[in-house]
Amino acid sequence: VSTEPLVEPWTLAFPYTRSTGATLGRFFAGLAAQRILGRRAVDGRVFVPPLEHDPRDGSPLGDWVEVSPYGTVETHTWIAEPLSTHPRTTPFAFAMVRLDGADTPLLHVVDAPEREAVFTGLRVRARWAEERTGHLRDLAGFEPLPPGASDTFTPEGESMPELASRSFVYPMALHYDVRAGHALSVHLRGLSEARFLGRRCPRCARVYVPPLGACSVCSIAVSEDVELAGSGTVITFCIVNLAVRGQEHLERPFACGNVLLDGADTPFLALLQGCAVKEVRAGMRVRAVWREPAERGPSLSSVRHFEPSGEPDADVSELVRRRKELHRA
Ligand SMILES: [Zn+2]
Repeated sequence: VSTEPLVEPWTLAFPYTRSTGATLGRFFAGLAAQRILGRRAVDGRVFVPPLEHDPRDGSPLGDWVEVSPYGTVETHTWIAEPLSTHPRTTPFAFAMVRLDGADTPLLHVVDAPEREAVFTGLRVRARWAEERTGHLRDLAGFEPLPPGASDTFTPEGESMPELASRSFVYPMALHYDVRAGHALSVHLRGLSEARFLGRRCPRCARVYVPPLGACSVCSIAVSEDVELAGSGTVITFCIVNLAVRGQEHLERPFACGNVLLDGADTPFLALLQGCAVKEVRAGMRVRAVWREPAERGPSLSSVRHFEPSGEPDADVSELVRRRKELHRA
């Protein structure tokens, strides 16, 4: 049996819906029409991308203006090894491009064959995406202006694209590896064998399931292995009426509860099934229902759920009192 700590790739994501609002909404509507729009401040400076207020004094920005698709690289950074979250799979530059007619630079991609081809002062031109939907990616990026190519620009006129405020899901996510550590790895491997393995603190005798590396009261390693039966008591619970990501297969409402295994001192959250949700109560005695061996793995999802065991209810206040007493000792 391997004793190496388990490692699993993990994604922490907060996908939220973002509204473009009046100002960026019109800017994106402009991009869909292959026009780059900015807004003029009281002192005449033109902001691209447009803002609602002048960052200098907070005064509202005024007229909309169309600026040139030609511009100059002010600063840049060369991305030699793009990450999966970057807009290109081959090397490229992120650059601050100040478009002709604008007073502020726009951050975007400059596509170039090599690092030396991008520099401060480089003249570039916009390249448009084939399909445009009112998104920053409608402007596919910038490319160096070929020698001798014209960079004169005539705005389409006074008419501005209609405001197209809309919302889109903004995917903010961190991808990283979770390392379980020795104690937790033992516990997780136990779950794939339908066993609850915990650890006991050698000083205060507190039993942790799932185990921590160290006792949170004594701050010493919890070294002693303990195996617990799959029976326990519901300490607290909640009824879930809303759809939960990853639990869409469950019929709602369903119940989840903190289950304290017999002999353990730390409860954990588990799915409670096998009775009507209105029968779920604190003190209810439950037992683990395991998945079939082929469906089990080093995860708490090896436990299909907990179901009522039919035993008389336990006295929760007595359980809590005993735990408090143990921790004072
Ligand atoms: Zn302890």
